[in-house]
Amino acid sequence: MVNRGGYNCRHQFSYVNPDWYEEDGEESALLTDKVKPKAVPNPKKSIFGEVSKDEKVLLENAFGTETSPFSKAITFIPALKTLKKSGRGFYRRSDDTLNIGSNRIGVAEEMKVFIHEYTHRIDRIIGVKFLDDKALKLKFSKGVSDNINKAGGFNSISFLKAESLVLDTKVLTKGLKKRRLGFNDEWAKVTAKQPSIFEKAKLEKYYEKLNKELKVVLTDNEIKTYLTSNGRTASQAGIYKFKLKLKNKILAPRYDGGFDLQFSGDFNDYIGAITKETIGAGHGKYNYSKYRTIIRDGNRTFTEGQTLEAWANHSAMTMNPNIIDNKAVKEIERKLMKYFAPNTTKAFDDVVNNFNNL
Ligand SMILES: [Zn+2]
Repeated sequence: MVNRGGYNCRHQFSYVNPDWYEEDGEESALLTDKVKPKAVPNPKKSIFGEVSKDEKVLLENAFGTETSPFSKAITFIPALKTLKKSGRGFYRRSDDTLNIGSNRIGVAEEMKVFIHEYTHRIDRIIGVKFLDDKALKLKFSKGVSDNINKAGGFNSISFLKAESLVLDTKVLTKGLKKRRLGFNDEWAKVTAKQPSIFEKAKLEKYYEKLNKELKVVLTDNEIKTYLTSNGRTASQAGIYKFKLKLKNKILAPRYDGGFDLQFSGDFNDYIGAITKETIGAGHGKYNYSKYRTIIRDGNRTFTEGQTLEAWANHSAMTMNPNIIDNKAVKEIERKLMKYFAPNTTKAFDDVVNNFNNL
C-alpha cells in the first residue's frame, strides 16, 4: 500500500511532506539560526508559575484556572520562549518554540492543538532531566520494568510507558482480520435489506430498530454527539455503522491506512501511535520507525515516536474543551480511549497524577 499522506500535529491531512517529520519533538535540520525569544516572561506569577503573557491566556483556557496536576507540571518548567500561530502546528525543543498553527477551525480545535503541543513540551523538558536526576525519574517509574527503566538515550517521560502500548497492541491486533471481515459482512447484510434511500423516514425507522437491539460501550445519544463533533452525519444508519465498529473493535477507514472519519483525528492518531498504524492513522508508520526503539514484542518494535504521540493525543482528548448539546465530548471520547486502549490510557493517566509529586 502506498503511503498516501499523513497528519501533522495540526491534524490537517496533507500529502507526505518531509518537512513536518522534522518537527514535533525532533530537532529541525532547517533550523540553523538561533531564534530570539519573542515572549517576555511575566514577572507576575500565576498558578502556572512563571509564564509568558501570550502563554498565560492559552494555558488558562487549556488547563483551567485552578491548581491541577498539569498546572504543577507547567510550574515545574520554565516559561515558553516562543509562541507562534501560523502555518503548521508543532513543538520544537531545540529553541523551545510552540506553534499552534493557523489551520484548525474553531476555538476548541485550536485549543486541542495547543494542549497537544504543550504536552510534547512538558514531556521533553522534564524527560531530558532524567539523565541527571534519578529521583525525578523515580517519580514517574512506578510499575515500570527494569528493562525500560535502564534503557538509555530517551529524552521523554512518555517512553517509560512503552509496555502499555505493547499490551494494547496485542489485544487490538489479535484476530483483527476476522473482526474486519465480521464488520464488513454485518454492514453488507443490513444495507442489502435496507429500504430505499429516497424513503428517509422508513430508512431511519429501519436503523432505529437495529440500534435498539445492539448495545455497545456508548449510548446512541453519546454516539450522536460524537459524530456531530467530528462533522459526520448522525443519522440512525450512521449511528448503527459506528456501533458495528465498536462491536468489532475496529476503525474502518475508506481505504487502507486512511482515517476513519467517524472518529476524531486525535483518536485515529492515538490508536495509530499505539499500534504503529496497524489500526488508526496519523503520523505514519515511516515516521514512527525513524525514532529509536524502546522495546520489542516478537516482530514488532515500539519507538519513542509512538509514546510521544500517544501521550500528546491522550492529553488533547482528555482536556478537550468542546461541548455539544450540553455534552462534554471529552467524556465520550474517554470511554472510547478506555475501550480501545485501556492500558495506555491508564498509563498516561498515571503520568498526569505523578505531576502532583513534582
Ligand atoms: Zn504531536
